[in-house]
Amino acid sequence: MRDVCIVGGGVAGLAASIFTARAGLDTLVVDGGESILARNASLENYPGFPDGVDARRYLQLSREQARTAGAEFELGRVTRAEPVAETDLEAGFTLETEGGEPLEARRVIAASWSDSDYLVPLDVGRIQRGSKHFVSTDAAGRTAVDGVYAAGRLAEEPHQAIVAAGHGAKVGLAAVHDSDANFYHDWVTPEGYFTGRGREVPPGCEEIDDDERRRRDEQARARMLEAFEEPLDEAPTMHPSVDRE
Ligand SMILES: Cc1cc2nc3c(=O)[nH]c(=O)nc-3n(C[C@H](O)[C@H](O)[C@H](O)COP(=O)(O)OP(=O)(O)OC[C@H]3O[C@@H](n4cnc5c(N)ncnc54)[C@H](O)[C@@H]3O)c2cc1C
Repeated sequence: MRDVCIVGGGVAGLAASIFTARAGLDTLVVDGGESILARNASLENYPGFPDGVDARRYLQLSREQARTAGAEFELGRVTRAEPVAETDLEAGFTLETEGGEPLEARRVIAASWSDSDYLVPLDVGRIQRGSKHFVSTDAAGRTAVDGVYAAGRLAEEPHQAIVAAGHGAKVGLAAVHDSDANFYHDWVTPEGYFTGRGREVPPGCEEIDDDERRRRDEQARARMLEAFEEPLDEAPTMHPSVDRE
């Protein structure tokens, strides 16, 4: 059984998976299609990209980052989620996917804008607004069902990528905190930042020396230079109701 299954490999799901996987949780991302961000023509309000970034490239790099962190991916649309044991939510959840084997996970993060039908058997608390359903959560993304979380637009967060990413990270941290790791920062600090004050390096933190810092910087720059060397040959996805003939 996985520690965490994240339903939806879009902006929020990928951010959540980076946090849960870096915390050492066995993380599976199940994605049934394409992020709505693939419809964007130029992503210009995401901090860190002064002239914007190709949204598909941003998604590609986020997927790579999740893989580097240790997350695994499976393609498939989740169609049903239910507890393994009706009377014991600690026993985890079973997820059925279209055409695939059922998956089991102790915790489920729903980051599947705009589909939450598969959560109906769990009674997490869905809110209907027009034709859309949102999932009701507390401030950390926990739903009414212990072990089930919702992230990103599905949790009624504002409809911008940076907000979905931030929320995904926050919900990933909630899942980490609810697991055995009850304190977790995910900080990388210079050598001596904690130990130089006679303190232990806190759980989830790492101190690195200058050589290691330079090595990581070099590796990071090489990867980004390679990623941005050529333009992506992928067009944005058009709204399904637009007739382009
Ligand atoms: C045309 C357009 C332009 C936009 N431009 C901008 C912009 O310029 N700046 C900006 O900040 N934001 C922009 N956005 C908004 C941004 O794309 C969203 O706010 C953001 O993608 C929401 O992230 P999310 O993770 O909640 O959903 P998504 O990124 O859509 O991810 C949801 C994922 O869940 C998967 N999924 C759904 N159901 C299931 C299921 N049952 N099983 C498995 N997987 C499932 C989907 O395939 C998808 O990959 C734009 C949106 C659109 C439509």
